[in-house]
Amino acid sequence: MIYLKSRDEIEHMRKSGGILRDCLLFLEERVKPGVSTKRLDEFAYEYIVRHDSKPSFLGYGGFPGTICASVDDVVVHGFPSDKRLKEGEILSIDCGLIFKGWQADAARTVAVGEISEEKRALIDVTRESFFEGVKHFKAGGRLGDISHAVQTYCESRGYGVVRSMVGHGIGREMHEDPSVPNFGKEGHGIRLEEGLVLAIEPMITLGTWETTGTGWTCVTKDGKPAAHYENTVALTEHGAEILTL
Ligand code: MG
Ligand code: MG
Repeated sequence: MIYLKSRDEIEHMRKSGGILRDCLLFLEERVKPGVSTKRLDEFAYEYIVRHDSKPSFLGYGGFPGTICASVDDVVVHGFPSDKRLKEGEILSIDCGLIFKGWQADAARTVAVGEISEEKRALIDVTRESFFEGVKHFKAGGRLGDISHAVQTYCESRGYGVVRSMVGHGIGREMHEDPSVPNFGKEGHGIRLEEGLVLAIEPMITLGTWETTGTGWTCVTKDGKPAAHYENTVALTEHGAEILTL
């Protein structure tokens, strides 16, 4: 069941999105060698609560953190821990919050100190592929147009597109219909219309697209690094509007 949002409802989601955007900027500034992801998680919790919001991940299906903190080959859903970040690693921070009943969900992959050229390129291509997808988030198009754009942008450059995790609709619930895969066919899937709000979130790897793991764990099968870039995006009368940027 897809819930289209009214202009008023999107206005609420714009506010939730703005808080999350600023929270992620606040966290990104604090990513450096020697910091534990547990500490970043505490920063996120404090930030969200201070802005009259609620962390949406904490306790979701038993998840133990305010953020997902996924280092290097961990694709998504990494648990915050006492382990300290090391120079050269990449950290994906995924965070969600609820403000006055409306959800926002977004993720960034951040360099820990100096990183290799290939990790830098992975982060860049992942972010760029999101914007390629958003170009196709327009009334009259099909959901598959977004998926296809993300997939071809990444695969044509030799990167892997994760299949086991996908984006989603978002609103009063964090995960609503429809599912938004980062792979698919143009001209297929539901028709895109005003009022749709989606979390579009490419998860891209330096090697194989295959992942492994049980429970929460999602790591690349070949141990190569993965990056994640996500925003909550609304389709309004003026076109696609990124609410968490
Ligand atoms: Mg997310
Ligand atoms: Mg999401």
